[in-house]
Amino acid sequence: MPIRVLPEQLIHQIAAGEVVERPSSVVKELIENSLDAGAKQIAVEVEDGGVRLCRVRDDGGGIPRDELMLAVARHATSKIATIDDLERVGTLGFRGEALPSIASVSRLKIVSRTREADLAYALTADNGVYSDPAPSSHPVGTTVEVRELFFNVPARRKFLRAERTELQHLMRVVERLSLSRFDVGFTLSSGRKPVTTFARVESDEQRHARVAEVMGHDFVANALFIEHESLGMKLWGWICLPTFARAQPDLQYFYLNGRMLRDRTLANAARLGYQDVLFGGRHPAYLLFLELDPQLVDVNAHPAKLEVRFREGRLVHDFVFRTIERVLRDTRPGAHAPAPPASIETILDKAASNNMWPARGPEQSRFLLGVSEAPSAPYRAAPSVESAEVTTTDEQAPVDTPPLGFAIAQLHGVYILSQAPDGLILVDMHAAHERTLYERMKTAMADDAIATQPLLVPVLVQLTRADADLIEEHGESFKTLGLEIERSGPAAVQLRAIPTLLRRIDPSQLLQELLSELREHGTTRKLDERLNEMLGTMACHAAVRAHRNLSIAEMNALLREMERTVRADQCNHGRPTWTHVSMQDLDRLFLRGR
Ligand code: ADP
Ligand code: MG
Repeated sequence: MPIRVLPEQLIHQIAAGEVVERPSSVVKELIENSLDAGAKQIAVEVEDGGVRLCRVRDDGGGIPRDELMLAVARHATSKIATIDDLERVGTLGFRGEALPSIASVSRLKIVSRTREADLAYALTADNGVYSDPAPSSHPVGTTVEVRELFFNVPARRKFLRAERTELQHLMRVVERLSLSRFDVGFTLSSGRKPVTTFARVESDEQRHARVAEVMGHDFVANALFIEHESLGMKLWGWICLPTFARAQPDLQYFYLNGRMLRDRTLANAARLGYQDVLFGGRHPAYLLFLELDPQLVDVNAHPAKLEVRFREGRLVHDFVFRTIERVLRDTRPGAHAPAPPASIETILDKAASNNMWPARGPEQSRFLLGVSEAPSAPYRAAPSVESAEVTTTDEQAPVDTPPLGFAIAQLHGVYILSQAPDGLILVDMHAAHERTLYERMKTAMADDAIATQPLLVPVLVQLTRADADLIEEHGESFKTLGLEIERSGPAAVQLRAIPTLLRRIDPSQLLQELLSELREHGTTRKLDERLNEMLGTMACHAAVRAHRNLSIAEMNALLREMERTVRADQCNHGRPTWTHVSMQDLDRLFLRGR
């Protein structure tokens, strides 16, 4: 075949391949256009899962008659004009491709009226044939109607799913976009039946309700509100407690300057923020908003604009990672004493009455989590007890009762029962002890100061030759962990010193376990990166086992240590270490009115 220039319509259709995958991608582009046009109310109507019809109506600024034709022309946009503009895009769109692409694979109609015009004008595009703008009626704003999607691209039509599935995609898109702009109202209806309605948020309760509706009430009840600003970047939103982690990464929403993203850098940063507090293979849930100077991001990196390129990727990554990490470090009992465990509702209600959304101003800072550089006392939410009556921070709890109260008994050698100011606290003693030991050892290791003790009689451990080689090769790392090991034969090593904390355990058994961990993860990855995990294994060994009887004094010592230990609300694997049953909960159990 000779080289030829492709017909206009085909060029559009090829471009459409990148942007228009299914009805929900059409609706995403149309809603983004409405938002860019300053709409405050956006109505989406679909029929047959959006395949027969997607109609998006807004009350934005509208399109002047003379520009209607340009709106559906390729590479025509009102959002950028120069390369400088491209480097600081503040709108959701800027490529000028969505409308022509959509028009090339559907029957499109735009009706629009600007504030200045007396009349609305309508334009249709059908299989590449455009009509002249004709007078029509429409209030100020725009309606874009997309009918019979892919009617002229049979190959694409085959990929469309059942109406119900497409409708679900549509709902997801509307929900996600609704979280990007609380000040805009959204409705979605299907076959004239309302499916989703988000009224414009006018109060903090409504904002709270919108988050709960999209993310689920469980999420809100188990989330911490965070806000942190530094280096010209701001991160705010909600992150779930580690104990609320999920089996799938399905509740991870990131918005960058109001644009919803699926970005690896940010997802990795968040994941790293949860390191050490998450049960293996679990995924955190979060709804996060990152705001930074548009000049620091290149949004021109993905046709559907779902990915971006950060000019300072490392900086952004570390900012997000550290912010989350610091918040989670403060998940420990009474991190903001003397408040009793409060539900997130308390915080949100509290926040509402302080106009915290979006929080600004120093007098609100005590409601923010301890993520500022200054050693401020963080406010935190413990796992909430459903509908417990709420005590606010303003009410002083008795000063001399520590957050986890005083131990009164041990239950079946597994749980510590403790009397707290307003009820009962239950502590999983092994899990709690494991965390406190782990954190202590981590700190010691960072200072290169794990206390070790030489063994009076070195312990000889028989191994395979390969394992002995492995240990010899990683001798320095083992030393950092507080284990002094020497080769003492082709297939044997000698343990000469162990961490003091581990003095009561069987050292050869521990060594075997560390070795199997090393082998399992291969030796290619540097041991340094695994030191924390190895410490975790050591902590697990050293922690009190179930069925060990503890004295009241020992139990109290553990409770006090938990209060001092960062991340003590969950064990090394992300399970909760303690929980709280209030007097009210108990009263309710016994139908006892108070
Ligand atoms: P882009 O959004 O990248 O500019 P589009 O093809 O999506 O490209 O839209 C082209 C142009 O049409 C926009 O730049 C805008 O000026 C205009 N436009 C599209 N939709 C709307 C709308 N709902 N309200 C007002 N103007 C719109
Ligand atoms: Mg657009």
